[in-house]
Amino acid sequence: MNTLSNNAIQILKDRYLIKDKEGKLIETPEQMFRRVAKFVASCENEKSTFYERNFYSLISNLKFLPNSPTLINAGCKNGQLSACFALPITDSLDSIFTSLKNAALIHQSGGGTGFNFSKLRPKNDLVSSKSSTSSGPVAFMKIYDTATKYVKQGGKRRGANMGILNIDHPDIEEFISSKSNKKSIENFNISVGITDAFMNAVNNDLDWQLINPRTKKVVKTLAAQSLWKLIVKKAWRTGDPGLVFLDTINKSNPTPNLGRLETTNPCGEVPLLDYESCNLGSINLSKMIVYKANHYSIDWDTLSKTIHLAIRFLDNIITLNHYILPKIKAITTSNRKIGLGVMGWAELLILLEIPYTSKEALNLAEQLMKFIKTESYKASENLAKERGVFPEWKNSIHVHKTQMRNATCNSIAPTGTISVIADTSYSIEPLFALAYKRVGILNNQTQTEINKLFVKKMKQLSLWNLELENTVLKAGSIKNIDSISEAIKAIFKTSLEIPWQYHLLHQQAFQKYTDNAVSKTINLPRNTTKEDVSKIYKTAWEYKLKGITIYRYGSKSNQVLQKCHLN
Ligand code: UDP
Repeated sequence: MNTLSNNAIQILKDRYLIKDKEGKLIETPEQMFRRVAKFVASCENEKSTFYERNFYSLISNLKFLPNSPTLINAGCKNGQLSACFALPITDSLDSIFTSLKNAALIHQSGGGTGFNFSKLRPKNDLVSSKSSTSSGPVAFMKIYDTATKYVKQGGKRRGANMGILNIDHPDIEEFISSKSNKKSIENFNISVGITDAFMNAVNNDLDWQLINPRTKKVVKTLAAQSLWKLIVKKAWRTGDPGLVFLDTINKSNPTPNLGRLETTNPCGEVPLLDYESCNLGSINLSKMIVYKANHYSIDWDTLSKTIHLAIRFLDNIITLNHYILPKIKAITTSNRKIGLGVMGWAELLILLEIPYTSKEALNLAEQLMKFIKTESYKASENLAKERGVFPEWKNSIHVHKTQMRNATCNSIAPTGTISVIADTSYSIEPLFALAYKRVGILNNQTQTEINKLFVKKMKQLSLWNLELENTVLKAGSIKNIDSISEAIKAIFKTSLEIPWQYHLLHQQAFQKYTDNAVSKTINLPRNTTKEDVSKIYKTAWEYKLKGITIYRYGSKSNQVLQKCHLN
């Protein structure tokens, strides 16, 4: 087993290791990895001991970690193991409050939920009791938000939601502005459901029609650009709304005969059908390397073996999962969607001494993700031969190509907690800062950290001393330190020093070979303009990304990560 960092041990103790009724820990991290490996191998029949050993080695060496609910709940009674769910909302109180109840149950079990509110009739529309009028999607989102606030995810983390409203809904302006107040709807990420027709209307300065979903009548016509400007203004000010590109998403819907994809999970990495859930897991790229002849290179053989084992691991979870609702079980086991992704991309680049802002990094991103996708598909094909294709395979786009065990194989998740457990950088994000204080979401306590690879490199170059340490703690970056060469500075560029173009190019490079989606935050310096935000959102659509999220430094009150300011 790999040694765990202090941060990792703390998080595991706080939220992942099993406690008795008095709240006393009754599990060590090693026992947690054993519990998970044993449970995930338990459907392997006569090969279960073999796979238990392999799964244990995979996760305890931090080469791959499944999403948090699997680490927390595997092997426990009625263990719910998925991070991502989508629930339907149709235009009736029955549907609204049925999904609200189901969302509460999902949150309680550690999962996050996505909803598209566009089928709801707009505010002030007719309702059947003639004396009253409808409240509209934003009012119901507020109810969902309040419920989420009080159902912490099994007491382990805050519930997360994605709320989408399509760009032709009559309440779209209210929705776009619904998070202007920093405290409002705080348990939701909100995204506007964008179509290609709308983007063409914006680009050609055309009118745009808002349509009542109940009557299908046009209730308002306005300039597409005025809506666009409102989106940009609000996103610039608060980070919300993001965009989801519904036509792009549906072009790669693996099961179009089962319905259109209307929503994603909370962080956007998995488009899902109504009641569908998905299991995620991420390969730690900083462990997929070999050190030979004085430099690091990618260990493609280890990577390939890791992918094959990880796909099997995620497929087993679908078989072993405890499903909260029969409807969730039915569609999830019909499509068997899984999402294998990556974490530690920035650290891999640092180890290979490749700047994030380089063509070489982008080429490697494509090469790497192409490899991961190809091997994931091979692994799923092998599982199909061994265990059979997913039940809806005949009804899917894969029927013309190859036998598959899973309708989708890859997603790039934010890895908000598992990358801390694996002690590596988040997902495909650049380092946020070389030093920072982390504010715990649950306990609000702050901790200071300096990046370990940075310290190691500085020591190697005999540059590490107290003065440098203090400077880095204050600034979070080395850009103004004269004694450090430009080449080294380029390798250690942090998120806010990286032009948005490179953030988007990395998202594009990974999206190209990801059948689900890539969750990425385009982190921007505070002085970014609204025009920049408009360009970023337009470029995201042109690049065929499935969604886009920006965050301008300082524009939200409860940032999880802050640049280190000790004084
Ligand atoms: N998620 C959630 N609550 C949280 C964080 C995440 O429900 O507080 C869900 C959400 O669907 C998100 C997914 O888990 O898209 C993956 O997030 P992440 O990779 O950050 O989770 P981790 O496995 O690292 O905890």
